[in-house]
Amino acid sequence: MSTLITRREWGLSALAAGAIANVTKTDKTYAVIGAGVFGSWTAYKLRQAGHNVLLLDAYGPANMRASSGGESRIIRASYGKDEIYTRMAVKSLAQWDAFFQKTGRSLLYRTGVLWIAKPDNAYANESREMLRKVGVPFKDLAPDETQKLYPQIRVEPGAGAIFEPNSGALMAREAVQAVVAQFMRDGGQFRHAAVRTPEGNGHLEQILTSDGSPIRADAFVFACGAWLGRVLPDVLGKKIFPTRQEVFFFGPLSGDRRFEPPQMPVWIDFGDNGGMYGFPDLDTRGFKVAFDLHGPEFDPDTGNRFPSPQKTEEARAYVSERFPGLAHSPIVGSRVCQYENSSNGDFVIDRHPAFDNVWICGGGSGHGFKHGPAVGEYTAARVLGAADPPIEPRFSLASKSTVQHRSVI
Ligand SMILES: Cc1cc2nc3c(=O)[nH]c(=O)nc-3n(C[C@H](O)[C@H](O)[C@H](O)COP(=O)(O)OP(=O)(O)OC[C@H]3O[C@@H](n4cnc5c(N)ncnc54)[C@H](O)[C@@H]3O)c2cc1C
Repeated sequence: MSTLITRREWGLSALAAGAIANVTKTDKTYAVIGAGVFGSWTAYKLRQAGHNVLLLDAYGPANMRASSGGESRIIRASYGKDEIYTRMAVKSLAQWDAFFQKTGRSLLYRTGVLWIAKPDNAYANESREMLRKVGVPFKDLAPDETQKLYPQIRVEPGAGAIFEPNSGALMAREAVQAVVAQFMRDGGQFRHAAVRTPEGNGHLEQILTSDGSPIRADAFVFACGAWLGRVLPDVLGKKIFPTRQEVFFFGPLSGDRRFEPPQMPVWIDFGDNGGMYGFPDLDTRGFKVAFDLHGPEFDPDTGNRFPSPQKTEEARAYVSERFPGLAHSPIVGSRVCQYENSSNGDFVIDRHPAFDNVWICGGGSGHGFKHGPAVGEYTAARVLGAADPPIEPRFSLASKSTVQHRSVI
């Protein structure tokens, strides 16, 4: 008799069916809680290292509430003078590429990333310097060049651009679900369950799911995104700041192909407007426009995910000004999602201070998605006690404050 796999069970078993699992090399078992981009890549890396791995998620991999559940995410190497993130982005891009090569389906649109900036923009100048140092190819576009190449963008007098030709857009939700599916094909297990706050101290033997079922493992990784403060309140209750972020999709008029790749790249506009960015019309889902400025505090479980009239108007006004060809386009979609900010925007990847075998992985802070592979590799190395990649002080819990002062963009 065949087993019926329901949609509720996410169909992952079906995707993984017929797979030949990798050989398990040890009798160690690891539990990773949270199947967003950070947890999924961590579970995938631990399984690749030959261990038994159970990945759990309260709502499912890259679900509608998760920060990783959006349609698309930018992958870029420009990070001002933050060398660590430029290097991680480069490393991750290579691993995303290799992963998509392995699965036979690329979820990366190499549209290039256009960073619109005035010549005196310090962040852009620091980025140029860092891209040169790390050896990331880019073009420096003068104002008239930018306008000539992209007539559908209204570039204000004097503003030029950095163009990263190798960067682009990752189809986020599908990419995470592809990582989880491959993890299962390789013999990892996924369970749709919410996990309670771990109790005690010293060595954690087990965690409990919301229905009281115990899960035993040699080590546990909590990669719960915006929920980290809720699931580990003593440690992160005041150190993770979920904010409400709104995203809008404008529908180009019929027959207007100027806003599709390759005519239109991913773009970032962190000039006077306080931080706007967006994507070309990918998969005909609309031209995406988003606000990077932190919104109000947000509850990831119960927060209202309908767009606000104020941001809708702001998005329309911005688009009419910057992309005049979309001034009369309808808004064909929208999303409200949360950033899971640390105090300064650096990731939080460290051991839980009360347990020798519990790890925390989060604080993506509105820029984490692209780094999924490097974060997974780093976290798995910490869990396994490896020396490489070495410990990064900027990811430590100790470096995080209870007051927000964003420095990483
Ligand atoms: C609008 C928006 C735009 C962004 N743009 C970009 C971009 O262009 N480029 C970029 O690189 N990054 C971007 N980011 C940031 C990036 O998406 C996030 O940093 C990243 O997805 C965070 O991944 P995560 O795995 O830490 O968290 P999540 O994806 O939120 O995953 C956490 C998971 O944990 C699960 N969970 C929580 N509590 C429990 C529990 N108790 N038991 C079991 N499971 C639990 C949740 O269900 C969830 O699935 C953006 C974010 C947003 C919101």
